[in-house]
Order: sequence, then C-alpha cells, then structure tokens
Amino acid sequence: MAKSLIRKPEKDFPRHKSHLLPSPEPVLIPDNPFHKIIPVCAPVLDESEKRKVLECIESGWISSLGEKIGEFERKFAEKVGAKYGIAVTSGTTALHLALYTLGIGEGDEVIIPTFTMIATANAVRYCGAKPVLVDSEPRTGNIDVEKIEEKITSQTRAIIPIHTYGHPAEMDKILALAKKYDLWVIEDAAEAHGAEYKGRKIGSIGDVATFSFYANKIITTGEGGMITTNNSEIYEIARNLRDHAFSQERHFWHKLVGFNYRMTNLQAAIGLAQLEKFDELVEKRIENARLYTSLLKDIEGLVLPPETEGIKNVFWMYGIRVKDSFGISRDELRERLARKGIETRTFFIPIHLQPIYWKDYVNEDFPVSEALCKEGLYLPSSSGLKKEEIYFIAETIRGIKKGVGS
Ligand SMILES: *Cc1c(COP(=O)(O)O)cnc(C)c1O
Repeated sequence: MAKSLIRKPEKDFPRHKSHLLPSPEPVLIPDNPFHKIIPVCAPVLDESEKRKVLECIESGWISSLGEKIGEFERKFAEKVGAKYGIAVTSGTTALHLALYTLGIGEGDEVIIPTFTMIATANAVRYCGAKPVLVDSEPRTGNIDVEKIEEKITSQTRAIIPIHTYGHPAEMDKILALAKKYDLWVIEDAAEAHGAEYKGRKIGSIGDVATFSFYANKIITTGEGGMITTNNSEIYEIARNLRDHAFSQERHFWHKLVGFNYRMTNLQAAIGLAQLEKFDELVEKRIENARLYTSLLKDIEGLVLPPETEGIKNVFWMYGIRVKDSFGISRDELRERLARKGIETRTFFIPIHLQPIYWKDYVNEDFPVSEALCKEGLYLPSSSGLKKEEIYFIAETIRGIKKGVGS
C-alpha cells in the first residue's frame, strides 16, 4: 500500500445551506481619491517598535528567555485588570493551553457560540473534547445566554464566551450559570483588548481569558497571544505547560505532556511598544466607529453595531448587517465597495456549517448565526484609519444605496 502524505480534506458540507456562504473574494481596484486600497485592517507600527526590536537584536536576546517577555506579561495583565499573564505563540495556543491547564479532555463538553472563529472550536477539539454549540443573540452577535442552560449536561466542563468584534458578552449570566453547574469560564478575548463590562475589564472576569496579538488585532506582536488569570494555581500550571512542563527538581525530566508555546523576546518587544499606545489605539477604534455610525445611521436596510449602557465596546471590527430592505445583497454591496478600493470582510461562517464540524450538529438550529453569516460585513476598521477615509466609505455606501433606489 502506498503511503499517503496528506490528510484528505473534508469535501462534504451542508449543501442545503450553501446559499448562506459568501461569494468568492471580489477584486479590489484602487479607484478612489487616495489611489490605494483601504485595507479592512492594518497594524499601527512606528519608531518605537523598531527601537525595541533593535534592542533585542543588539543584545542577542531574541529567543524566549529575554527580559521583555516578563515585562510584557506584567504590563499587559495589569492593563486588562488581571494578576497574571502568560505570553504564548498565538490566540489559538492560548485557548488550547487554557483548556489543557483546566484538565479538559476526552469525553468532556465545552460550550461555545457557533458564531465564532474556527480557533475556538479547534482548541476544544485539540483536547479531545466536544464543542457544544449555542446560537447568538442578534444585537451583538454574542452567545445567547438564554440558550446556554439547555445545552449543559453532566459532561459539560466549561463555557467559552467570545466578546464578538469587541462587544463584551453578558458575563453576569454566564458566571451565574458557571457557578450553578460548577463550570470553568474561559473568555475568548481575542477581539476585545481594552473592553469593559459593568466596570470590570475584559481579561479578568472569567477564570481565564485568552488574547490574540495577530497583526489585525487591536494590539499586535505579529503573531502571539496571552492567557490572563487571577488564579495563582492556573498561572503556575499554564506557565509550566507552556514550556514542555520541565520539572523543578531536575532538567529534562517531565511528568506531564507540555508544549512549546513560548513567545519570543522579539515579539514581546513589539508588544511593549504597542502597549505604550494601547489606550490611544482603543480610543481611535471607538472614535472611528462613532463616526461611521453618525454617517450611516439613517440608511435604510443597514443594521449598525451597538453600544450598550455600562459596557465598553472597543469595536475591533465595525460590523454591519445588510438587510433585504437595503435593496442589494451583502455580497453585491461588497463587490461594489471593492471597485472603489474599499476592502471588507464577511462575518464568520458558523462552526455548524464548517465541512469539519457540520455532521455533529445536523439536528440543531442556529437561525441567528446563519442570518449574521448571510448579512454581515465588516468595514475598514484599523485604528490608523483616517477620517477622510471613513467619510469616503460612508459616501460610497450612500451613493450605492441611492443608485439602488432609482
Ligand atoms: C483571532 C481570533 C482567534 C485566534 O487568534 P490567533 O492569534 O490568530 O491564533 C481566536 N478567537 C477569536 C474570536 C479570534 O478573533
């Protein structure tokens, strides 16, 4: 028998749902006053990142033993109101390490929203556990807290709420359920650096929170992630597992299967420079979102992202929904924006529609997530976006709407 090098990709998907899937990516043409593509998201980097990275190179500390890592962990944890931070290689490995640290494994169930990025479900799968899916509530796209309890079984071990596009999930109700059923709460805060929920910072509310520092996140280290927690035991265990679970008593001696999820000093250097502008980057996102909202709010057929009393939405992405009453579909709007060099991205395709997951959920309904998948679009959302660019994008959308009406 011939050996095979590659895993066979799943070919099947729920065909009766194929109308929900977005059209292929449109071609971007920089036909606008700026003569360039306006990207959906780009990092803000300047001299301070350059200087700090150079320090690493000049000192020779480029690996994971440099002193910038500890400093980045302390300062980032403090920024999000947590006692401890553990820097890792990505938001995905942060989720995996968190779940693994909490002892989640074979036979366990973890409740997640179906409307999320694939990493949330995959991290559960890496542990051998089963992702149990819950639909979203339509206003924020976050996990519908009214639909969690019916999914809890004797196998359930944890809930992972996602603070979707920067708007915190309803943590009070999630924490109450976790208490009632003795479950862990892991906040997937990959999109919510700087967000707040009823006076508490995102990153310090659940047992553990995980962040991503991928280039399009609110602050970046290129690739990277962090676990934050107030629990010293979780901190100690996760730190050890991040680094192959080396034992204290003797080197090269391992009593647990650990990982190499270590962040490098180079990444931490970029992270420290980004932390200096943290408040500014967050504020810019909120300002940009409010400007978009003021310019788009009277256009029929668009549903704009909400702000909620007592909750700080940091608008990682400015996500709008294009309803039938807009006159053309989300994909058609997207195509026309692309012709003006305006890059957009469609919302998540829910986990229950993914070729790798759908078969486990065929008997369940997730109508809200499906509507979000069909109608959702995020507009350029970088912290570095210029006001003129936002005016141009809003005017372009208004022009398209007018053309549809006539
Ligand atoms: C970006 C993201 C992740 C994954 O982060 P990476 O750093 O890309 O691994 C996980 N969850 C959510 C909700 C995200 O948006």
